[in-house]
Amino acid sequence: MSVSSATPGITPFSIRSERVLIVASSLVVLTILSIVSFLLIREHTSARQEATRAANNIVQLIDADVLRNVELYQLSLQGLISATKRDDMEDVSPTIRHLALFDRSTAAPYKGEILLLDKHGDVIADSASIEPRKGNYADREYFKPHVHDPSLGMKISRPFRSRGAEQDWRISFSHRLSNERGEFLGVAEAAMRLSYFSQLFKSLNIGHGGSVNLVSSDGFLLAQEPPLAEDLIGKDFSKRANFMRILREGNGSFTSVSSLDQAQRLYTFSQVGDLPLIVVVALSSDEVFASWKRTALLVSGATGALCIGLLWLTWLLRHELRRRHHAERELAQLASVDSLTGLANRRTLDETLQQEWLRAQRSGQPLSVMMIDADHFKAFNDRHGHQSGDEALRTLAQLIGRHVRRPADLAARYGGEEFSVVLPETTTAGAFTMAQNVREAVEQLPPARDGDAPMTVSIGIATWAQGPYGDLEQLMFAADKALYQAKASGRNRVVCAM
Ligand code: GH3
Ligand code: MG
Ligand code: MG
Repeated sequence: MSVSSATPGITPFSIRSERVLIVASSLVVLTILSIVSFLLIREHTSARQEATRAANNIVQLIDADVLRNVELYQLSLQGLISATKRDDMEDVSPTIRHLALFDRSTAAPYKGEILLLDKHGDVIADSASIEPRKGNYADREYFKPHVHDPSLGMKISRPFRSRGAEQDWRISFSHRLSNERGEFLGVAEAAMRLSYFSQLFKSLNIGHGGSVNLVSSDGFLLAQEPPLAEDLIGKDFSKRANFMRILREGNGSFTSVSSLDQAQRLYTFSQVGDLPLIVVVALSSDEVFASWKRTALLVSGATGALCIGLLWLTWLLRHELRRRHHAERELAQLASVDSLTGLANRRTLDETLQQEWLRAQRSGQPLSVMMIDADHFKAFNDRHGHQSGDEALRTLAQLIGRHVRRPADLAARYGGEEFSVVLPETTTAGAFTMAQNVREAVEQLPPARDGDAPMTVSIGIATWAQGPYGDLEQLMFAADKALYQAKASGRNRVVCAM
């Protein structure tokens, strides 16, 4: 039996407490990380919601303004149409007639001209001048559809570049003129300059990297402020993924990467009333989440440091625990080993004897004990000195230890020049053979000095085998007595207690 295994509880306990420590601190770290992640995700969501709400407000504002303007166009066109139906128009002067046809709203900035076209597309009245311009507009998008379709009502055209000197982008609102029988008489048309929207959008602050857009419901960009790139107005975006989604959904918001500059944006959009127009507010994600990003960076940095600190402390604690367990084990080893010979000491011997005695009582297996005493050792000391005596005891201990091979066997120093060997599950015969081997081996040791007689030992053996001893003391006493007999009958021999 090895000495260190005399303290078997220490290793499993230290491993268990280490595991508990590691699992507990990992759990704490995980909990901290999940709480922080949860909070950051929630903050992110609420930043997004807040931005969406702000964008929605802008969209509603624009909606209302655009609707009001479109209404004005509609009113102007209706006024124009009902004025043309009066019979007395032929009688008044061209100036009065002009005043009656075109009200003052047509003078508003960003409004283009209002034209009245006859059924051939020729201009018969022009809001820009009392003398109508010369021209035929029969080929225009806003004229052709009305010729054969009386059900169109007010038609909003696609954006187009005006053919006048300014060449700016416009859309037109047009209405069919028909008589009581529904026959086509001509078209009333009003143009809206898209610079109107740009001007409207300019007054809105939507932060860096964002833009406010007006798109027609067939996918043409009508206005954008601030412009994200040059020459985008009038372009067909109906095949771009983001626009397709906007056109499909009509109202709502989502986050996506812009195909224009690959920047991520939060798109919020809404159709303007029943008109084929959609307002899109695109906010830069960088801008929307800038403050969140700062917070997230700070919080995750601090959390990371905290967790690293915690894990470091855990490591230190584990290190300290290990050191302590190691020291304890060393102490326990020291406490169980004889310092001179390295064999088990008297304390370990007593514990082992007690254990093996009880085990033998339970199992009924024999238990043998050997007492080994150096012969005439006082004389050896006197002749060679105490130092050599110690050396001889160490040699003797090593020799005994070498003969004790089974794991359950224990060799110990009983005290002075006496040694004990505990042999569980060993009969007297087995113990005797082993004792003889030890005795012979000691005899074979080289003498301390040439010419000296060899060192010898006397050995007493007692065996419990279902008796005859009632307790451990009686067994030990019997072994002692056997040793005494070995001494008395001439030394250098083995005696078994009867
Ligand atoms: P016997 O054959 O009857 O056993 O004679 P003995 O001299 O061995 O017996 P005794 O008990 O009279 O003397 C034991 C001696 O062993 C006494 C002491 O000098 C010596 N001794 C005991 N312990 C130690 C030790 O640790 N180191 C040394 N060098 N000698 C020791
Ligand atoms: Mg002695
Ligand atoms: Mg002796």
